[in-house]
Amino acid sequence: MRKPLIVANWKMNHTVKEGLKFATRIQKDLPSEGQVEVVLCPPFTSLYSLSVALSEKPTVKLGAQNCHWEEKGAFTGEIGAAFLKELNCEYVIVGHSERRQLFHETDKEVCKKIAAVFANEMTPIFCIGETEDQRDKGKTAEVIERQLGEGLKEVFASSAPALVIAYEPVWAIGTGKNATPEQAQEVHEAIRRWFVRHFTASAAGQMRILYGGSVKPDNTAVLMKKPDIDGVLVGGASLEVDSFARIVNYT
Ligand code: PEP
Repeated sequence: MRKPLIVANWKMNHTVKEGLKFATRIQKDLPSEGQVEVVLCPPFTSLYSLSVALSEKPTVKLGAQNCHWEEKGAFTGEIGAAFLKELNCEYVIVGHSERRQLFHETDKEVCKKIAAVFANEMTPIFCIGETEDQRDKGKTAEVIERQLGEGLKEVFASSAPALVIAYEPVWAIGTGKNATPEQAQEVHEAIRRWFVRHFTASAAGQMRILYGGSVKPDNTAVLMKKPDIDGVLVGGASLEVDSFARIVNYT
């Protein structure tokens, strides 16, 4: 059984103070112990304070929104994976479409980041997804397969079951225009089939696939009913604690 995983991607929102207030509130609003796994991905500047605040009752986990592939060195403004591990991060989002589009992150860099995250004993949340133009041209499967192939080149078969893939159609991110549960399920199923071909059926059965793109309290339950949707990656609707609490309690 794959445990449902709900991830909040705050992007460049919430100061340390705001993040702490949110974390205290959401801890009170969680579904009964262990039913779902909840991860907050705040800006880097909040990770330390949140790791201290959450350490007393670590029912909510921490993730980072990005990392550099090198361990350390002259990379002004960057953060290496080991720095995140030290702050009790368990997850790192890699290859988010905003990183790819706004910061020109390439498949090769994404691949090196995934390797760095695993090398530091954390779990990558590897984001993939097609643009509207690519979907319109019928290229969704091709794009997804290329991103998977390039991004996971360095991943050992033994790590594959732990992977988290986030299918985030670019046209659905921050637009209010989410993929239908059927559209999402179709791609998720194709992703799992890709894992069967490139790793093993057992790995494919264990790795989790999140859907991301305009997830809201009102569409979470219907998405989560699909057999290959194991969780959601939430941007805008994770900023308001009431709305995120409803998503986390979708059942
Ligand atoms: C995201 O940024 O990963 C995301 C899915 O954003 P939103 O929920 O706002 O579409």
